[in-house]
Amino acid sequence: MTIKVEEKLFENRYRVDEGRAHIAIKAPEVCRDQCQLQSCTWCCPAGCYTKGDDGSVILSTDGCLECGTCRLLCSEHDNVEWSYPRGGYGVLYKFG
Ligand code: SF4
Ligand code: SF4
Repeated sequence: MTIKVEEKLFENRYRVDEGRAHIAIKAPEVCRDQCQLQSCTWCCPAGCYTKGDDGSVILSTDGCLECGTCRLLCSEHDNVEWSYPRGGYGVLYKFG
């Protein structure tokens, strides 16, 4: 049986901590003006980073899997402020 990543992601549950995003872009202008690869927009398994029409990058942490990939791939610009969500919030892995 073949299972798609999207189907597995759907099995997770996520509790949003309203107004307290656990990841932030430090300087949005760096994303727009200095980062050619914008790797966060294609590395995030949850699709939290998207490209804006003006070359900016938009981050929504809802659904974040807390994998840390975006922080690692942004090491060149060190432009991602990253922490785990508060206890009781964030992703809940229901099926492994
Ligand atoms: S990789 Fe870092 S600097 Fe580049 S677009 Fe993403 S957050 Fe911005
Ligand atoms: S920690 Fe992982 S899932 Fe969360 S925003 Fe970064 S790359 Fe996406």
